[in-house]
Amino acid sequence: MTDTLPSLPHVAVEILHRTRDADVPMSSLAAIIETDPALAAKVLKVVNSSFFGLSRRIGSIQQALTMLGLRTVRVMVLSLSFVDSLRDGGDGGFDFEAYWRRSLGSAVAARLLARAVDRGLEDEAFVAGLLADLGMVAAWRSARDDYRPVLAAWARGEGSLAAVEARYLGTDHAALGGALLAGWGLPASLCEAVTGHHAEGTADAAGGLGSIVRCAAEVAALFCGELPASELDRVQRRCVAETGIGEGALEELFAGLEERLAETASLFSVPVGETVDYESLQAEAAARLAELTIQAEVDRLESSRRQEEAEVEARRLSEERAAILEIATTDGLTGLANRTAFDARLDEELARAGALAQPLSLILLDLDRFKAVNDTHGHQAGDAVLRSAAACMRRLVGAQGLAARYGGEEFAVILPGRDAQATRILAEDLRRAIAACEVAHGDRRLRVTVSLGCSCQAPGALPVRPADMVAEADRWLYRAKRAGRDRVLMDGS
Ligand code: GH3
Ligand code: MG
Ligand code: MG
Repeated sequence: MTDTLPSLPHVAVEILHRTRDADVPMSSLAAIIETDPALAAKVLKVVNSSFFGLSRRIGSIQQALTMLGLRTVRVMVLSLSFVDSLRDGGDGGFDFEAYWRRSLGSAVAARLLARAVDRGLEDEAFVAGLLADLGMVAAWRSARDDYRPVLAAWARGEGSLAAVEARYLGTDHAALGGALLAGWGLPASLCEAVTGHHAEGTADAAGGLGSIVRCAAEVAALFCGELPASELDRVQRRCVAETGIGEGALEELFAGLEERLAETASLFSVPVGETVDYESLQAEAAARLAELTIQAEVDRLESSRRQEEAEVEARRLSEERAAILEIATTDGLTGLANRTAFDARLDEELARAGALAQPLSLILLDLDRFKAVNDTHGHQAGDAVLRSAAACMRRLVGAQGLAARYGGEEFAVILPGRDAQATRILAEDLRRAIAACEVAHGDRRLRVTVSLGCSCQAPGALPVRPADMVAEADRWLYRAKRAGRDRVLMDGS
């Protein structure tokens, strides 16, 4: 299995091995690199490119080592020979073009980020970015049958590559790559940066290699079209927060990135296909933002429409409930409160009168010889008389209390806050008003008298039970009937 893992070409291994020893003479290194003339030519091509911006041409590896230093040349050799070793993949099913696009994108973004925040990290950042996704190639080469479904799931959009890998394989390409590079003997900081290049956390120092490589990976994903343009703002904010790069410098970095990437791809002679330029990224992000804004407005209108509908429905329900309550507490024939409403109100008023130490009075009122009205003129005439008497009560009681139909031709009036004297006056008014009322029936004019009995509770006499009040008023009403009807009787009369 391990023989299919990506391995470093002989020259790179030799260079890595030799440069562990700080005292190694430059000339012997140059000699090793020159054993691979194609590689040496590429190194010279790269060091003379605008990438390094050197003022004079470098003609030999020895000169490059003197001008750029051991470290940088080592990076160049490592990167170039690594790319060469993977070049001839011939692997149907693995998108090497996309791989290089992302890897070179990460490498360039990492180098530029490092250039802005810590120049000393430039070379290592470049290599770390370039090798960050090496684990993908390792997984593909060593376990193709297991990795194919992972790539397919990623292509279907089942999540980020690392997340899909973790779900399918229990590890991800970042961890694999980091381990592989550690095996190659690369510095621990570089291996750690690769291992953590998809991590969310910012446990390491801002501006360190880890944060640079993490941010570079996201920048590359944007420029490779693997992240939607709508993520532009988030990625830029992350770069500022995690690497400490200034906003102006970041803007410049983004504006120049695509060109840098194209240049690097040509230096390394790898096809990277289509990348996204910053202007269209920005335009797309702006369009997406406008879309979101419009959508938010549509959502807002929709939700206020729904809220309005809910309010209308709530109003309708409460009106319906009120109507049902009205029906349940109103007497159909007279429109006065019915017995149910009367009972509830008397309970309530007794409690209130007790609590507030106020008087409470009750009048019971019964139509005299009403049966005769029905018998002589018919039930409808009786109904008309009942309605007329009810109308008199409603008019005279008004807001002073509650007039209710107690049952049949018997009525009740609750008078909160009214003492015996006021109650007697109202009862007499009722008696006279009803007696004076004429109900037209055919060519006859019908009249009816009423008998009334009252119960008046002075504040000190409370609490009293509702039934006791009704019974007392009823007793006086009965006496009024016996005494000849058409009269008011109550305590003290
Ligand atoms: P009293 O003076 O002793 O009260 O004599 P009364 O005839 O009024 O008393 P009684 O209880 O003998 O008769 C009451 C009548 O009221 C009997 C009943 O048919 C009539 N009545 C009760 N409810 C209604 C009603 O809704 N409509 C009509 N038309 N008559 C009713
Ligand atoms: Mg009667
Ligand atoms: Mg009766």
